[in-house]
Amino acid sequence: MKGFFDTRIEFLKGVGPQKSALLNKELQIFTYGDLLQYYPFRYEDRTRFFSVRELHHQLPNIQVKGVLKSMETIGTRSKKRLVAQLQDETGTVDLVWFKGINWISKKLKKGVTYVAFGKPTLYGGRINMAHPEIDVLTPNHQGPGYLQPVYHTTELLKRRFLDSRAIGKLQKQLLVNAYPKIAESLPETLLNELSLLSRAESLRQIHFPEDHKKLSQAQLRLKFEELFYIQLRLLKLKHTRIEKYQGKVFGETALIREFYHSYLPFELTGAQKRVIREIYRDMKSGKQMNRLLQGDVGSGKTIVAFICLLAVVGAGSQAALMAPTEILAEQHFRGLHPFATSMGIEIDILTGSTKKSARDSLHQRLQNGQLKILVGTHALLEDKVQFQSLGLAVIDEQHRFGVAQRAKLWSKNKDFYPHVLVMTATPIPRTLAMTLYGDLEISIIDELPPGRKPVETVHRYDENRLKVFGFIKKQITAGRQIYFVYPLIEESAKMDLKHLEDGYESISRAFPDVPISIVHGKMKSRDKDYEMQRFVKGETRIMVATTVIEVGVNVPNATVMVIENAERFGLAQLHQLRGRVGRGADQSFCILITDVKISKEGRTRLQTMVRTNNGFEIADVDLKLRGPGDLMGTQQSGVLDLLIADLGKDGKLLQVAREKAASILDQDPDLKLPIHENIRKQVARQKKSSLNWSRIS
Ligand code: ADP
Ligand code: MG
Repeated sequence: MKGFFDTRIEFLKGVGPQKSALLNKELQIFTYGDLLQYYPFRYEDRTRFFSVRELHHQLPNIQVKGVLKSMETIGTRSKKRLVAQLQDETGTVDLVWFKGINWISKKLKKGVTYVAFGKPTLYGGRINMAHPEIDVLTPNHQGPGYLQPVYHTTELLKRRFLDSRAIGKLQKQLLVNAYPKIAESLPETLLNELSLLSRAESLRQIHFPEDHKKLSQAQLRLKFEELFYIQLRLLKLKHTRIEKYQGKVFGETALIREFYHSYLPFELTGAQKRVIREIYRDMKSGKQMNRLLQGDVGSGKTIVAFICLLAVVGAGSQAALMAPTEILAEQHFRGLHPFATSMGIEIDILTGSTKKSARDSLHQRLQNGQLKILVGTHALLEDKVQFQSLGLAVIDEQHRFGVAQRAKLWSKNKDFYPHVLVMTATPIPRTLAMTLYGDLEISIIDELPPGRKPVETVHRYDENRLKVFGFIKKQITAGRQIYFVYPLIEESAKMDLKHLEDGYESISRAFPDVPISIVHGKMKSRDKDYEMQRFVKGETRIMVATTVIEVGVNVPNATVMVIENAERFGLAQLHQLRGRVGRGADQSFCILITDVKISKEGRTRLQTMVRTNNGFEIADVDLKLRGPGDLMGTQQSGVLDLLIADLGKDGKLLQVAREKAASILDQDPDLKLPIHENIRKQVARQKKSSLNWSRIS
């Protein structure tokens, strides 16, 4: 059934086929509903007049009113400009035009009172306004004033007379007819409980706010609604999966007891024990587990994964451990192989470079159930790879695996879905985790193994490089190993490679007797692995690399991480890199090297790294930095297409939205109660327009 809000935008008065084609293409506005949900990204404050004396150059656009005292054209050619003086009781301000001089000077009349709207700037010690909007003062201006909505448009739209003002006019027109038809989408109980504006009123106020207070009420309501429906959807997904998808029951086995007793090389931390219990609880429940295990770098996720693998293998099923790169897969394999073989468990590895002959035998042993643990890269996901009975798949460093790949794993067992444990060290702020992984259960390892000394981080400028080298010399003499990391970004890959090679040369010159490895993305993966291996075994003492070593590599003897051009790395990446050191008992260091000139944001990133080792704190700063000050921020950084909510700022609201959604689903899982009719209808509408939802699930 098509409703009013599905009406195509071309039928709105003043739009027509040509403009509608533009709105479709440039702003993805197809229907009345789309237009109404195209919110302003900021507002110009016309709620009051500033007096001339109050003006200073740090103000945004503001309005002043006054009498036009004089007007003259000065300068010639490119310097030609029209300067008019506007005077109120407190002083005089210059209004300046560089373009359209003839037209403006005909329009303006001395002695008339005008309202000028623009940004005060400082020029030659005087405050002026360049190209202000200017209108004759009318009784309309004497009213309470208003907040003028500002909409994003594009150059093309502006050229076709669809600027922000024009969009505002369309909104105004649409609202007249639309207002009485806007259905409430939240239950009455929630509106009352949280004192939210109605949907209709919010939509009116978001476009044409009466005042600041009404605007923030409208924003709150619309943000809440957006977050609420995302959470409802995620929680429902989770709920359905728990209801429907059976999982094989696994619990503690003799194998695990044997491992604890004879092989576990250290005592597990409290946090490790807790997350293992959480995982067991899922695997024993008879339902399929979908759990995210978050733990900072070095918190010991691998051993947790291994113990879970043992629960499955001990019960006669098979398990897989998947990593994003060959280096990591091999590292896992080498780490687990000794334990597995001494316990009589068959383990093997499958990556892109596994030879065909080895592959054939591997496929066979997987299918007949002989091979119990398979470690590998995404080569594991190929259709040819068939298990006899896959019980658990652990995915390490999830951020490189998409949801589709997760789903592919599910299909690896025909009788029941294998349990899925996703592990990540990429610290994700709670708000993001709740949204991106809102359908997963979450376990967190929030404790590092004992005896770890926090990495000491410093920021040094290029010019102090010799001192840094001196320090490194001492570390090498003491038997430690060093990383030097160089940035690598696609656009200037050539330049970066040159940086890396220059760096390698200067390091070789500074440390002539020290064996050095170099690893970068342009190398064949065999050569990369070979060099990595030399460093892992301690044959080389310095590793010069691009960010290929970012994730997961474990060399406990490496104690210094030098990051060159550190300002070019994001916070999450810096934190990951720093996590490569501080893995042994010795004090480790992270040295961030930059030029003296760095951007303000770059400086904040470096200061954050120097200040804290806490991944979650770093993630929060990261989110705040990357979500710019206006509403469009988080949207365009691409995490989720949110219309109005901002995950960097609306954390509390998100929490409330999730709690409310959860309690409603608890009370009424199928949303059948009459009081939830509004929700039912809204879900149906959203499904129809597939707004937001397809991206999450
Ligand atoms: P990550 O969580 O980053 O994947 P790893 O699993 O690689 O961390 O563990 C980092 C190092 O800590 C490994 O050398 C591992 O053997 C060691 N480790 C893990 N758990 C403990 C523990 N409870 N006590 C001591 N060392 C531990
Ligand atoms: Mg790891």
